[in-house]
Amino acid sequence: MADKKKTEGELLADKLLSDHKHAGLLLDEKEIKKADDFCEGYKAYLDAAKTEREAAAEAVRLAKEAGFKEFERGKKYKAGDKFYYLNRGKAVILGVMGKLSLDRGVRLAAAHIDSPRLDLKQNPLYEDFELALFKTHYYGGIKKYQWAAIPLSLHGVIVKNSGETVTVNIGEDDSDPVFCVTDLLPHLAQQQMKRTPAELIKGEELNLLIGSMPFKDDKVSKKVKLNIMRILNEKYGIVEDDFLSAELEIVPQFKARDVGFDRSMIGAYGQDDSSCAYTALQAILSVKKPDHTCLTVLTDKEETGSDGNTGLNSSYLRYFIDDLARAYGLVGHNVISASECLSADVNSAVDPTFSDVTENMNASKLNYGVVATKFTGARGKSGTSDASAEFVGRVRKLFDENGIIWQSGELGKVDLGGGGTVAQFIANLDMDVIDVGVPVLCMHAPFEITAKLDVYMAYKAFNVFFAD
Ligand code: MN
Ligand code: MN
Repeated sequence: MADKKKTEGELLADKLLSDHKHAGLLLDEKEIKKADDFCEGYKAYLDAAKTEREAAAEAVRLAKEAGFKEFERGKKYKAGDKFYYLNRGKAVILGVMGKLSLDRGVRLAAAHIDSPRLDLKQNPLYEDFELALFKTHYYGGIKKYQWAAIPLSLHGVIVKNSGETVTVNIGEDDSDPVFCVTDLLPHLAQQQMKRTPAELIKGEELNLLIGSMPFKDDKVSKKVKLNIMRILNEKYGIVEDDFLSAELEIVPQFKARDVGFDRSMIGAYGQDDSSCAYTALQAILSVKKPDHTCLTVLTDKEETGSDGNTGLNSSYLRYFIDDLARAYGLVGHNVISASECLSADVNSAVDPTFSDVTENMNASKLNYGVVATKFTGARGKSGTSDASAEFVGRVRKLFDENGIIWQSGELGKVDLGGGGTVAQFIANLDMDVIDVGVPVLCMHAPFEITAKLDVYMAYKAFNVFFAD
């Protein structure tokens, strides 16, 4: 240590005052290398799982590889047994049976696998000025202008009148075409630039450019549109009315990349909430024979308020735990009441360029570890579950005792806005829950940024929670 002895004040400060540090200063090279390696898998996941359906399928694929079997209602699972339940192809519950009786509660990690995007409307296809376009309807909270003039890809399913389902994924392969929402050139944007930013690109201006070649036939009026339908019919066997029963989602085409000269960060679409979904998924996949039964739920519809039968404001998680409990003659709600949950969702990190929107004593920072968010909501804490001091204390002790680098975070200045997660819906089931996740820059933008050390710490945090 230093040759000079510490003063009384320095010693007192060491003992009494909070002292959080950059994770890069706290971790050794070996651990930093582990975080980098972990994030290679994360980047591959980001590219493979841009939509809730793809994320659910990817989770099931990885789970099967790890020995998880499809959940059987009524089956009495033994400690260490692994199972998964797929809800309508858009949400997944993965579980590992614990050694303790289920009435001791489960350890639940809950992340969401839907991200803000553009959906195709039900009648999307039209031609104007001999260009073919799709009408879209945005999903979740976006700054609409961010979605213009960037390469976009198309993902989803089309259910034909025959009942057959076609899966669509165009734009991700390097040889694929991509699509684009057009924007106005600055030369002619004088009027547009006078609009408020919320209307810089209006909802009805989020039109996707998809073609420009006509079908050569003078008897046909909309030749470009017809030519697009001809191509789609050849490729997928669909007709225009099949869009009525489709879910087609438009997402940024670009792949996950390292950010910064030091490669310490990751830039990608959908890190809210893939950074928590992937880490909660990897944590459940690596659980061996836990004391408590462990569950990871990867849910849909968080970005639109968690309503709907694949969102956590519905009953599917409750029913699932009820089914688990009943096989042992237990009451589902008793299991739920004894359970604990980490709501695995991101928080907003301090942005040095816009640090005036965050209250920087209480905002999360990149590289300061996984962020625990006691409450979300808006204004006077409306629309939040607000974790109890007791439960925060329990999680704090767990993390501190297991070397988890973590921080507390609040979403922005009190009067400036707000947001929510699935935590409130889980709390409403009578479960203890706190938000724990990764700090993010550019949240809800087509390209969101996280720090690798934080992503890795989230993974470790879910691990110690499951192991506890
Ligand atoms: Mn989120
Ligand atoms: Mn979000």
